[in-house]
Amino acid sequence: TGGVCAEVKSPCRVLLLLNPLSGKGQAHTLFTSHVQRMLQEASIPYTLTITERQNHARELVREADLSQWDALAIMSGDGLLFEVVNGLMERDDWEEAIKTPLGVLPGGSGNAVAASMHHYCGLQPVSGEELLVNCGFMLCKGLVSRLDLTSVCMASSQRLFSFLSLAWGFVADVDIESEKYRHVGAARFTLGTLVRLASLRIYQGKLSYLPAEEPGTHPCSIESTESLTNVPQSISSSLDYANDLQCQNHPLHNSCNSNNALKPKRTHPSVLGPPDSLLVPLDQPVPAHWTVVNEENFVLVLAAYQSHLAEDLIAAPASRLEDGVIHLIYVTAGISRAALLRLFLAMEKGTHLSTNCPNVVYVKARALRLEPLSPKGTITVDGELVEYGPVQAQVHSSLARLIAG
Ligand code: ADP
Ligand code: MG
Repeated sequence: TGGVCAEVKSPCRVLLLLNPLSGKGQAHTLFTSHVQRMLQEASIPYTLTITERQNHARELVREADLSQWDALAIMSGDGLLFEVVNGLMERDDWEEAIKTPLGVLPGGSGNAVAASMHHYCGLQPVSGEELLVNCGFMLCKGLVSRLDLTSVCMASSQRLFSFLSLAWGFVADVDIESEKYRHVGAARFTLGTLVRLASLRIYQGKLSYLPAEEPGTHPCSIESTESLTNVPQSISSSLDYANDLQCQNHPLHNSCNSNNALKPKRTHPSVLGPPDSLLVPLDQPVPAHWTVVNEENFVLVLAAYQSHLAEDLIAAPASRLEDGVIHLIYVTAGISRAALLRLFLAMEKGTHLSTNCPNVVYVKARALRLEPLSPKGTITVDGELVEYGPVQAQVHSSLARLIAG
């Protein structure tokens, strides 16, 4: 019997959403040839739904009767998972809905979450169909981990939930420009990087962040980490950690979805999702204890919350699914093309942060704000294009659940 079923009333039911256009357009064929039998042999009943257009999965998940499903899985790249996560967070019952275990079958060209999960298990790096098969096993095994989500707030007051990255400058440009090379699959990022290197440019903007600190060393750290360990009881009750801790023991058990006696105080009543306790409105200066970066000319700003940015790009090797940390990497202007190329080549092994290049900065943060000054540009969230302009974000530790072990 499959592990997904192990801790829930049987039968365990998986809603599998498949984007037929993801990757090289072979996701459905790959599912049939590599995963279908595995699920059957593990006796995991699933319903396969092929998405028909962008945001189809997001709408389905927003409206779905979640009591019918024990897990929601995607067969695509990170973009379809982004739809599922945001669909869940757009529901009135987001607090329960987002605890639905999510499964990932890499069928896209950007499979960063799948590659990260694989990396966290301590397995040798693999790509393509091998990664797909390994993730298929993980789905069958059904071990549920917690997953940090970062809320991203735009000037239009739109708010998104992100599990992977926020990028501006070089990386964001490559994310979007490389869409046209999707016929080469995961290699599209390497190709896009080489093309972008040839037309390297500087991006002007202001960057500030709230540094991550060890719990207890800073008055804001308890609130900011939302850590599930070492939280005093008084804080624990107001943020409902007790309910979460119950989930840790029975990750798929329905008691996760029990009513919460105490809800956190909401600062923006109309906005769904947890309040962003670390952020002040975008039109106000950042809080005094934030760090304001003393440089306005950047080549890239990348906030990563998982180890991988793509199957063969390990941007934040130290990252874990639920470390409550935004791994902030930025590269300031003045770096040579050769040094930038070396940086990306080193990123294939995850050794780029120890190269001692003075233009490359890596800090751990809980929240950040980015205010681009260049009139035009690209910002991506989890590899997806979002509105260009000032943006801020804060991590919400362990908000979601991922079948990842
Ligand atoms: P890839 O890694 O290959 O880019 P993604 O999962 O990121 O795969 O999907 C790419 C984009 O396609 C995402 O923006 C997603 O929302 C969108 N999408 C999902 N289903 C469909 C569909 N049926 N037709 C067109 N676009 C889709
Ligand atoms: Mg994508």
